[in-house]
Amino acid sequence: MRIDPTGRSKDIEDRRGARGGMGGFGGGGGMRRAGGMGVGGFVILLILSVVFKRDFFSLVGGSGGGELAPSAVEAPVNDPAEEKTVQVLGAVLDSVQNYWAQALPAMGTQYPRAKLVLFREQTPTACGSGQAATGPFYCPGDSKVYIDLSFLEELQNRFGAPGDFAQAYVLAHEIGHHVQNVLGISDQVHRAQQQNAREVANQLSVRLELQADCYAGVWSNLAARQNLLDPGDLEEGLGAAAAVGDDRIQKQTTGRVSPESWTHGSSQQRMQWFKRGFDAGRPDACDTFNR
Ligand SMILES: [Zn+2]
Repeated sequence: MRIDPTGRSKDIEDRRGARGGMGGFGGGGGMRRAGGMGVGGFVILLILSVVFKRDFFSLVGGSGGGELAPSAVEAPVNDPAEEKTVQVLGAVLDSVQNYWAQALPAMGTQYPRAKLVLFREQTPTACGSGQAATGPFYCPGDSKVYIDLSFLEELQNRFGAPGDFAQAYVLAHEIGHHVQNVLGISDQVHRAQQQNAREVANQLSVRLELQADCYAGVWSNLAARQNLLDPGDLEEGLGAAAAVGDDRIQKQTTGRVSPESWTHGSSQQRMQWFKRGFDAGRPDACDTFNR
């Protein structure tokens, strides 16, 4: 992509420093502070220090600073190796959200901006505990997209979809779910899912996912018109859409393909809808429910 950010998007919420994201609740966050010591350890060292009149904190490397003492174990919030990725993601986020902010009023509603939360391993969300293993996801309860940056490596290494535009596709897809939330489409689908059998519910999920792919394509059309794409970027996006198709993932993980359990659509479908959005450059081309 030809995107050259000079700073961070204001819609990024960086939680990478809060490992586990559960500090104060006995989760990984609290335990890693003060040299891997929790509140219990702190109290024990305090008692030992009082009883033996000796500073036992110095033995564990935290000089009595307790929970607030910075620790070498903690990953730096601003890992320089990740900063470029963070800024590029932020620039994509801004571009995608600027698009929807001007497109949605024509569809009858204003666009409230979503936040992009960067986290490591796990983090609390309005949709329950967010896990890195789930991959990137959108939570309608707090209107936030959650990404553990290690997924972007996985996209390249496990899914074989390298490149910054593959990452942009993933982010634009997740913001697509936010748009569906704003438009009330996700609510309608979830109600219909509850009233129908598993197989029908899965088909509705596929249509919702394909629409998010199509929305990612619609934004890509704008990116192309703004000259943000390098040669090969469109193919990169299509490759990423194919890489996360249900049939391909099923084949990789179970060796079998069972379409009735699909929730996101086949590689072919995902590429088709991404391309349809790209070719049309308009969200009304993305009516996956009536086709
Ligand atoms: Zn999705």
